[in-house]
Amino acid sequence: MSKVEQTLSIIKPDAVERNLIENIKSIFTKNNLVIKENKKIHITKEEAAEFYKVHQSKPFYDNLCLYLSSGPIVVMVLEGINAVSLNRELMGATDPKNAEENTIRKLYGISIDKNSVHGSDSIENAKKEINFFFKD
Ligand code: UDP
Ligand code: MG
Repeated sequence: MSKVEQTLSIIKPDAVERNLIENIKSIFTKNNLVIKENKKIHITKEEAAEFYKVHQSKPFYDNLCLYLSSGPIVVMVLEGINAVSLNRELMGATDPKNAEENTIRKLYGISIDKNSVHGSDSIENAKKEINFFFKD
C-alpha cells in the first residue's frame, strides 16, 4: 500500500560540519520527498538525552547524546509516499560499513556513531519525533 506519510530526518553534526546539508537534501528531493519543515539548531545534551531516551539502556547512549549536542544539526519533516521506509532506504544501514551503495551513510558516514543522519523508524515514532522538534 502506498500512503503519504511524514517522517523526521536529522542531519547530524558530522555532516553539518562538512557542509553536506545541500547534498543530503538533494538526495531526499530527487527521491520525491518534500521538505515541509526545516531548521538548523544546536540542542543541549539534556535535549538529546530526551530525544534518544529509547536507547537509554544501551552502552552507546551517553556518547550518542554528547555527540548529537556537539554542534549544529538540521531537523526536517520529510513528506511523501511511504516516507518513513523510503527515508530509511535512502539513509542506509546504521553502520556505514554495511550500508548499500549510494545511500547517504555509504556516501558520507564516517563511523557507526558519526553516521551523518537520523531517520524515524516507524510511523508512530515519526509522529513523536516530529512533535518533539516542531510542537505547534
Ligand atoms: N549508535 C552507536 N553505536 C552503536 C549503535 C548505534 O553509536 O553500536 C548510534 C548511531 O549514531 C545510531 C544511533 O545510535 O544512528 C541510534 O541507533 P539505532 O540503532 O536507532 O540506529 P539508526 O536508527 O540511527 O539506524
Ligand atoms: Mg533508530
